[in-house]
Amino acid sequence: MPSLFSFQNGDFLAYTLANPVECEPQSFQIQGADLYLEDTGILRIEPSQPTSISLVISVGIHGNETGPIELINNLLKDIFSGELILNVRLLVLIGNPVSSNAGKRFIDVNMNRLFSGAWKTFDCPEAKRAENLENVVQRFYEKGSESDVRLHYDLHTAIRGSEYEQFAVYPFDHGSGYSKSQLNFLAASGLDAVLLSHQPTTTFSYYTHLTYGAHAFTVELGKVYPFGQNDLSRFSGIDSSLRSLMATSEIPQGNLSSLTVFAVKDALIKDAEDYTLNIGSDVKNFTGFDKGFCLAQSSLSEYRVALDGDAIIFPNAQVPVGQRTGLIVRLTQPETLLFIKE
Ligand SMILES: [Zn+2]
Repeated sequence: MPSLFSFQNGDFLAYTLANPVECEPQSFQIQGADLYLEDTGILRIEPSQPTSISLVISVGIHGNETGPIELINNLLKDIFSGELILNVRLLVLIGNPVSSNAGKRFIDVNMNRLFSGAWKTFDCPEAKRAENLENVVQRFYEKGSESDVRLHYDLHTAIRGSEYEQFAVYPFDHGSGYSKSQLNFLAASGLDAVLLSHQPTTTFSYYTHLTYGAHAFTVELGKVYPFGQNDLSRFSGIDSSLRSLMATSEIPQGNLSSLTVFAVKDALIKDAEDYTLNIGSDVKNFTGFDKGFCLAQSSLSEYRVALDGDAIIFPNAQVPVGQRTGLIVRLTQPETLLFIKE
């Protein structure tokens, strides 16, 4: 059995970036766990002792969002060295190493629009990778016990600044309700806000939520910086809650009242080539507008703000016609949420 030195002294990220397209499956043993490198950037770790949690952490689904990749690489180093003893099943995914090497969000297609089978309509490396990731996640969850708590945190950083620096997107619940325990976890992780989605999407977290019943979130941890330029201390909240979860197999609990909760009210869609957003390029996520403001227009349509304070997130008009140019969100009171039984 090869030693961890195949990982260039335990540096999973360096190994992945040096083998960005594919690599031979390999397995290793460390004290208390078996490691399986299933493909490039895809590492499964099975602890020797039984556990009831199957945890997927994905990073770099957008290749240039390097902060969370470095965060998880450091965490893996501590697992390899024995400093962090794993007590959960863990699947770590570095999403798009080719675009990470290129310093780009993606090469051909935004990979976080390719899940739930949307990859089938494309023929490009991101589509193949999304198919591969779906298969790997399916095998991982199915290898665990039926009764395992399935978790998936898909960690990102955003193109622009944000009125709320760190926030999570809660996939559409189809009316089934929200997990208080998971919201408490997000609060314990130091997040500022949560955004409740209003419809099915083709994002990775919606896919694992819908398909495997995972508690799944897209987690935005701040602004994009190149490798080596991230201030990892800004991620200390999520870093310590993930370490605690991994070591104890207990989900750290903060108080969800510390989270500002927004509900998505509308998705803006680019409907023509002459579509424009009437905001500056430096407008932050969660910037609010007055009722009646014409936020977007094209030769086919216009979008006027429905209520004072309605805010925009993820604005980006540089997308193909038919794709999303932003989401309109509205403050909501946590007390009004429907919670699932846990
Ligand atoms: Zn992203």
